[in-house]
Amino acid sequence: MTTTAAPRIARTRVTPILIGDPPLLNSQGVHQPYTPRLIVEVQTEDGVTGVGETYGDTDYLTIAEALAPALVGRPLLDLNDLTGFAAEHSPDVSGRARTEVNAGGLRGSRTTNKLLASVVSAFEVASLDALGRTLGLPVHALLGGKVRDRVEYSAYLFYRWAEHPVADAPSDDWGAALDPAGVVAQAQRFADRYGFGSFKLKGGVFPPLEEIDAIRALRAAFPDRPLRLDPNAAWSVDTSVHVAEQLDGALEYLEDPTPGTPGMAEVHRRTSMTLATNMCVTSFAEIPEAFASNAVQVVLSDHHFWGGLHATRELAAVCRTFGVGLSMHSNTHLGVSLAAMTQVAATVPELAYACDTHRPWQTEDVITEPQEFVDGCVEVSDLPGLGVELDGDQLARLHERWLTSDVRDRDDVAAMRQVHPEWTMPPAAHW
Ligand SMILES: [Mg+2]
Repeated sequence: MTTTAAPRIARTRVTPILIGDPPLLNSQGVHQPYTPRLIVEVQTEDGVTGVGETYGDTDYLTIAEALAPALVGRPLLDLNDLTGFAAEHSPDVSGRARTEVNAGGLRGSRTTNKLLASVVSAFEVASLDALGRTLGLPVHALLGGKVRDRVEYSAYLFYRWAEHPVADAPSDDWGAALDPAGVVAQAQRFADRYGFGSFKLKGGVFPPLEEIDAIRALRAAFPDRPLRLDPNAAWSVDTSVHVAEQLDGALEYLEDPTPGTPGMAEVHRRTSMTLATNMCVTSFAEIPEAFASNAVQVVLSDHHFWGGLHATRELAAVCRTFGVGLSMHSNTHLGVSLAAMTQVAATVPELAYACDTHRPWQTEDVITEPQEFVDGCVEVSDLPGLGVELDGDQLARLHERWLTSDVRDRDDVAAMRQVHPEWTMPPAAHW
């Protein structure tokens, strides 16, 4: 009998990049022309390389650059204590985490642990990719096997400007969407091009009555399609109750209408509306209060800030235990993250809602063959690892953009000031 020692990590690489982003509006402001992401690579002593992707703002990069060299020499399979190991080898960014006001608010509270988990997730995914390539198995097999061959995604509708208001910005031909007719046209294009069967509208941009009108217009145009509305906690409890009553029967769920678990619980208690969140339940520590008070009925997991693919499956088990639904949150991302999302989503039996993805808004990628959406779905790859190949030329090009730009953090408020110089971050529940 022979035994095979688990391969060790021989090399790691962290590459910050900037990717083009359209002028998508939300409750805080507007997406900048370019947003940071991190691509991490883990190479084994056998020369097998795995890849992962995560958020790329300064704090994530700081943690990743400290963790990457510390991982060299560790067994590739030592994933269960990766978070603890990362905590020991990470610089303290808690001061920034407490004081920064930026897009992190759209993803719930910004804590050191969540920053850490988001970085760990990229190395966990890269390790699983390398392990899968070593064994000749897809990542879903390493997680216990897929229960579906395709993962359904939802069209992610945004109010948006036609162009960024600054020079040398990326552009596209989607045009503006600033009223119900524009939202419906955008939805129609998503349906025609990608076959999406459900629609989510990012709200919190216009007064709630205007966004109610947009949902009603979508309902009229697509009578049978599931619809969601996500104002990122821009509404008070009373406003949320009013919107929920106005849209009773029109929504599959209402996402984070109001800030905080007690507020969400009150909205549900007063309306019975199904509420989803990627803001008040973003870590295991936030689950007990939220589930005990029935504040959320659907948790939108994000494998980045939950700490990886194994953690996502642990979250799925907790949700299963308490009868809470599970789906997926998305921020601006590329094909490496989409591959990881698809692999883990394929392993969760009770995934009952189409997952969110920003990917169709991105016009560039770092993989050689970006995934296609067919009937709103991405096929689950059975190739070894994640089933994607890093495009070295594209990675170098997007890294060069990062090197020659001073954009280091996503800042939707600053981007909005280009048009509205007096703009400040609206407080939560300002409507
Ligand atoms: Mg959300």
